[in-house]
Amino acid sequence: MKLYSTNLKADEATFKTALIKGLAPDKGLYLPKELPHFSEEELNSLKNEKYPEIAFRILSKVLEGEIDDDSLREITYDAYNYDVPLEEVDNKTYIMRLDRGPTASFKDFAARMMARLMQYYLKQENKSLVILTATSGDTGSAVAHAFYGLDNIKVIVLFPETEVSDRQRKQMTTLDKNITALAMDGKFDDCQALAKQAFADDELEHLNLSSANSINIGRLIPQSIYYFYAYAKLRNYPEEIIYSIPSGNFGNMMGCVLAREMGVPIKRILASVNENDEVPVFLETGKYAKIEPSRNCLSNAMNVGHPSNLARLIAVYGGVMDEKGNISKLPDMEKLNNDISSVSVTDEETKATIRKFFEDYNISIEPHGAVGIKGLLDYRETTGDNTLAVTLETAHPAKFPAEVIAATGVDPEPPQSLKDVEAKEEFMDHLNTDYDAFKAYLKEKLE
Ligand SMILES: *Cc1c(COP(=O)(O)O)cnc(C)c1O
Repeated sequence: MKLYSTNLKADEATFKTALIKGLAPDKGLYLPKELPHFSEEELNSLKNEKYPEIAFRILSKVLEGEIDDDSLREITYDAYNYDVPLEEVDNKTYIMRLDRGPTASFKDFAARMMARLMQYYLKQENKSLVILTATSGDTGSAVAHAFYGLDNIKVIVLFPETEVSDRQRKQMTTLDKNITALAMDGKFDDCQALAKQAFADDELEHLNLSSANSINIGRLIPQSIYYFYAYAKLRNYPEEIIYSIPSGNFGNMMGCVLAREMGVPIKRILASVNENDEVPVFLETGKYAKIEPSRNCLSNAMNVGHPSNLARLIAVYGGVMDEKGNISKLPDMEKLNNDISSVSVTDEETKATIRKFFEDYNISIEPHGAVGIKGLLDYRETTGDNTLAVTLETAHPAKFPAEVIAATGVDPEPPQSLKDVEAKEEFMDHLNTDYDAFKAYLKEKLE
């Protein structure tokens, strides 16, 4: 597999380089130059397989020559040891629950695979790595859990002590072993700034710091697998399917774009967003403007005023957008609008959808999943298109109890993974946001 940078100013990279580096040297995002195609026969053969086997079959073709099949099979079975339910709403509508991983967020799908692939390549070269990541909550816990217990990789998670919920904090602090949780006396932006300064500090280069952030190609590719999975379970080739994807940074929906490029017959991709509607406006007008600062909505993991993966979407459709969001070449807007719709959903509609699904179907959803569902309902109403559709639930309702109780009056029952954390001992270090103190801490901890 060869990868190019969306800024078109960097050399081609191998998968391994793109995975370990994350960002291309020209600050662009990596995308595969070519992807394999899955035939009708191959798609139909997935029908009776379980998720980890489907993941293995897809990845062994995508990563052909990059990793041996025995190691890959071991990795996919180890990473995907939880259920992926497809819950029926009616015979045209399914909810794919991506909330059964160890941190009850769909981010587990990407983070667990990226962590294991990194470990595979590091072991080959007998190298080690330190993942330094700043988090406002969910990404940090998914990353920490994904790397937990792996050799050769240490993780340091910086989080703003007063800005995360008890449950979020406990998901990071109860792990220990190779995971260090650093509670910072500051805001998320301070944590982010400290991490950035450390990455740029020559005196820390020998520590091999890496960010594992959401733009890594090793997180994107695994996010295409569940689109094969739902298709294989619900359809027979060549019938088409619609996906509605609650979107913030658009990594999840880019996974769907890749799945379509690899041959999954997807009629339309709905990128459902909250009141941060910069993408729907762009698709409609061809003009792009970031929303700064982003709007605060109930689906807070989607409060993104400039999605980092938009550069990738534009690249797939023949355009160029740089890391600042400037478009130097417009993509093929007609083709883009033919394949993809983006629907903005208000907080009021989000709440009403949570309530409606609880009352009408006895189905419990949280704000992000509700945006996906409402986006689909709006699309159906405006187009009359009743093709079979799957909407994604990206977090467990128990991760957003206040919002769910406000809409339904019922406190959602936490999954075992969240309950287990409650009673465990917490380990964390405390620091203020002084860079010199942070640097001294890193050296003492890691040298
Ligand atoms: C991160 C996240 C999203 C948004 O995913 P993107 O890939 O950034 O579009 C949606 N829902 C939840 C619960 C998330 O944590």
